[in-house]
Formats: sequence, C-alpha cells, structure tokens
Amino acid sequence: MATAHCPHCLLPIGDDADGPFPAQRMRCPHCRLGIAAGRARTDVDPATVSSGSAAGVLANAARREDAEAADPLVVAEALRTVAARVEVPVARLRMLDYERLSAADAELPALGSVLASAGSWKKARQAAADALAASDG
Ligand SMILES: [Zn+2]
Repeated sequence: MATAHCPHCLLPIGDDADGPFPAQRMRCPHCRLGIAAGRARTDVDPATVSSGSAAGVLANAARREDAEAADPLVVAEALRTVAARVEVPVARLRMLDYERLSAADAELPALGSVLASAGSWKKARQAAADALAASDG
C-alpha cells in the first residue's frame, strides 16, 4: 500500500493507492489543481514535500482563490496555534504544515486568507512572531 501524492504540490492525497490513483479525475484538496485519473505520484519522498517548489505551487494556488484577507490578529493567533501543534517556533513554521493543519480545522483561516492578509508567508510568520514577542514583553 502506497501513499498517493498530488503531482503538482506533492502533498499526500490518499493513503490507499494500490492501483492507479485517483480512480477518477479529482481536485487536489491542497493546491486545488486538477489531477487526471491515475496521475497521482506514489514515489514521493516525504523530504521532497518540504522543497521550495512544492511551497511555491501551494502559495500560487492559495492566491488564485481570491480569499478574503483575515484579520492580522487572527492570522497571528492561527500561526501560533499551528506552530504549537507541530512543536516549532512560529518563526520556523512551514507553510506546508499550516496548509495541512488548517485544511482539517475549520477554526483556522485558510492559507489563502493568511497570504491575502500578510502578502506573503514570510511576512505572516514574521508578524506572528513579533506579536508573540510583544505579548511576552
Ligand atoms: Zn496539490
């Protein structure tokens, strides 16, 4: 049994890929790009998923959504929440981890809203780290 990965963003899209996956054309839940039947990749090394290219595909897809900008305070709080869950400092939180957790948690603003609010993942992360430092001070 192999894990199927999106051919565009390389994030996992299915755990049960014994045969060609997907059985029918589907839309990737992460980057929203279409995946033709049987075109998922099962040869993806998890380490590859952290690559900049996967993050770039994801960011571009999120921006295409025309998401409404979230309140900067909500964004900062959401990034802190996710960073705590994956046990990294906010300043080192990866966009891919945020996308993965926010997709499964309706309480968290979508990645597109975070990017629309801050302009970029780096800026969102920096703002969250600054807010955290200010509240500690
Ligand atoms: Zn994808």
